[in-house]
Amino acid sequence: MADKDKVSLEDIVSLCKRRGFIFQGSEVYGGLAGTWDYGPLGVTLKKNLMNLWWKTFVEDRDDMVGVDAAILMNPKTWQASGHVDTFTDPLVECSNCKGRFREDKIDTSKCPACGEKDSFGEARQFNLMFETIAGPVADDDSKVYIRPETAQGIFTNFKNVVDTLYPEVPFGIAQAGKAFRNEISPRDFVFRSREFEQMEIEYFINESDWERLFEQWRADIKAFLAEAGVNAEQVHELEVPADDLAHYSKRTIDYEFEYPHGKDELLGLAYRTDFDLGNIQRASGKKMEYRPKDGSPAFVPHVIEPSFGVERLVMAVLCSAYSEDEQNGEKRVYLKLPENIAPVKYCVSPLLKNKTELVEKAREVYTKLRENNSVMWDDNGNIGKRYRRQDEIGTPYCVVIDFDTLEDGTVTVRDRDTTEQKRVKIEDLI
Ligand code: ATP
Repeated sequence: MADKDKVSLEDIVSLCKRRGFIFQGSEVYGGLAGTWDYGPLGVTLKKNLMNLWWKTFVEDRDDMVGVDAAILMNPKTWQASGHVDTFTDPLVECSNCKGRFREDKIDTSKCPACGEKDSFGEARQFNLMFETIAGPVADDDSKVYIRPETAQGIFTNFKNVVDTLYPEVPFGIAQAGKAFRNEISPRDFVFRSREFEQMEIEYFINESDWERLFEQWRADIKAFLAEAGVNAEQVHELEVPADDLAHYSKRTIDYEFEYPHGKDELLGLAYRTDFDLGNIQRASGKKMEYRPKDGSPAFVPHVIEPSFGVERLVMAVLCSAYSEDEQNGEKRVYLKLPENIAPVKYCVSPLLKNKTELVEKAREVYTKLRENNSVMWDDNGNIGKRYRRQDEIGTPYCVVIDFDTLEDGTVTVRDRDTTEQKRVKIEDLI
């Protein structure tokens, strides 16, 4: 679709439900606010994006390693990091309808739920961390938090990684996994959820290198987003102004994407100095120093943190891919997903499902293609209907086996974006 403004949230939500990408969490019981379930196609799309991230930033680089830390962490983690005291949003309650909102997200002169004027009192700080109990006794000592970010699981393993792998600074540790935040008002589909996934990197550096490496990260992020299929024209780098920076950060860029609900944060890139390792050092009494191999003095590394949200990436990719055109006088919806991200790469079908020779040949092609690709078998309805279905889930190629195939060993390969059909030899396809 040429005009990106036309993609509405309803278009995306309804396509996701209709085609099995994303469903409301616990839908059968009426749902649970702020939770979403990935269906068969959504889970593959999400995994493709997460795998691309891992491959790009961990597997293909010499200066990066991964960890997978526990979600439940010693509560000291969240005291030292500042989350217990300051990981809060301002909460206001309407005196008329008792609706609760985030003060910084609404116009407080009028309640967005009931319309009552001047019904809000003073905001109170509401901590976003979920709490639970670890062990059979419910007292203050057994209270634990369900991690609100993956980053602390990286910082707390800094020393383990340094002591076991002796990496040279600069090096990074990456982690991808679930995070939980008790958002006051989950909204805009998966954009603001209470349970979501993050992909975070702490890149440990020498302080004197921060400006150069920050620029390198900007370039790396740009390249990754392009490969993931995020439309660069809809991404905007917002330099967080000095007054709004966290006290420990010297520079932060919020990467905003033009979502259907407006321009909003997709990911963040922050130079966090030695704030986090310094905090851990103080709170644990253990040195978080790095000892250079050339014998120069030990130091606590500084960090640059690229922090991606998976749900927001999935949404940005879907919005970038969502396209409409007209084919034979009819509106067509298709997802222009990159080949490596699309949940299905090839759809294979016999022209007619009641012709045994065609079905057998098609099965043969399907089995061969499946060895190295994600392939779907589809023999429902007529070919036109199959194409529409595959277009909507972003399948780049539909392969049809017809009577000519039996004669000359060629198949029809139909391109999702151009709808062009070509005859291709089976050997060349495989
Ligand atoms: P926001 O200001 O939108 O609440 P944030 O600045 O608190 O986000 P960070 O703490 O920097 O977010 O988290 C890093 C990334 O994690 C975000 O850029 C976003 O992609 C993702 N993220 C954070 N909160 C949520 C959420 N409630 N639902 C989905 N993704 C989230």
